Amino acid sequence: MAVSLPVYLDNHSTTMPDPRVVEAMLPYFTERYGNAASRQHEFGWVAEAAVELARKQVARIIGATPSEIIFTSGATESLNLAILGIAASLRHRGRHLITAVTEHRAVLDPVRYLEGDGFRVTRLPVDRFGLIDLDELREAIGNETILVTIMSANNEIGTIAPLQKIGEICRGRGVLFHTDATQAVSRIPLDVREGRIDLLSFSAHKMHGPKGVGALFCRAGQPPVAPSAQILGGGHERGFRSGTLNVPAIVGFGKAAELAIAEMEQSRTRVASLRDRLVHELREDLDDLCVNGHPTERLDNNASITFPHAKADSVIMEMKDIAVSTGAACSSATPEPSHVLQAIGLTKEDAASTLRFGLSKFTTEGDIDYAIGRVVRSVKAVRARSMAIA
Ligand SMILES: *Cc1c(COP(=O)(O)O)cnc(C)c1O
Repeated sequence: MAVSLPVYLDNHSTTMPDPRVVEAMLPYFTERYGNAASRQHEFGWVAEAAVELARKQVARIIGATPSEIIFTSGATESLNLAILGIAASLRHRGRHLITAVTEHRAVLDPVRYLEGDGFRVTRLPVDRFGLIDLDELREAIGNETILVTIMSANNEIGTIAPLQKIGEICRGRGVLFHTDATQAVSRIPLDVREGRIDLLSFSAHKMHGPKGVGALFCRAGQPPVAPSAQILGGGHERGFRSGTLNVPAIVGFGKAAELAIAEMEQSRTRVASLRDRLVHELREDLDDLCVNGHPTERLDNNASITFPHAKADSVIMEMKDIAVSTGAACSSATPEPSHVLQAIGLTKEDAASTLRFGLSKFTTEGDIDYAIGRVVRSVKAVRARSMAIA
């Protein structure tokens, strides 16, 4: 089978839009270009109906109701709205937040900002698999705690958090629980009621939808979960997020959610077996490699692999026809090795010798066969060169 090059194995950074998603979006760039907030004519009604259908589709993939969904420009904005918005609306009740050291920068940065604004922050450590200790979480919660934010699945090592247990601990103590589910939605079944989740952030482009659109789930109820708006003007999205809605992107997000619901089970097993074959065959040829993350509680599409004595940057340079990364795209600009890999106990050297593979439903057997050969040859070449120098 012919492989189309380069092979894309960086699906934690972004995913290929499903062609059916693109097709669903197209009319909203051309004849259906109305503003979903225009109440006085057909163009507006058509756009609004499309947005409301998408809201149902997006709500359904996390077991929420449509009125609990706020559309945003992506997970980064959702995370900022959740964290800064809850801090602002509950600061009279307390000024303590709890998170984990392995979170994405889009969580860590707003949390750090709040630290400069009079909040106290507990950053829970993780074990060698990337899991927090639930007893440490229990102990960290105090009278001042207003929010716990823990990611559903890690974007580097794929470890899945015990959401329901964390949710129950938070609910029992009257503390809000927010989760960054950007890597989890569409890859594992998620249910906000079962998980006792109060707020949940996610993004279309990590699930074969378009870039520039995401959602924040805020639980309804008495009282409802209500972060203070961070973007003002016009009162769109029930006042939580002003600005003209990106209708084509929202339509694509809805379609991506619908497809993910229909195809998740089937694609999960296929992707997991491709991932397992990748790891297994790399291990056959490079017996000293190390797979990071949790052995079982992990995303099916992830393999974070350390190749000791082979700098990841050099390995990547060696195989320009394979798209993989050393870690989160967002921190690739900084030369520091991954904070996640160091948090699970890797040395800086091992962290800098780690490749992150991210598969998707579009990954083929041919892609994996090709990648195995390329990675093995590249790691060996880099090692041979550094031996020659030493
Ligand atoms: C990609 C990602 C984000 C950022 O999402 P954007 O939609 O690109 O802003 C946040 N958290 C995690 C875990 C991610 O993987």
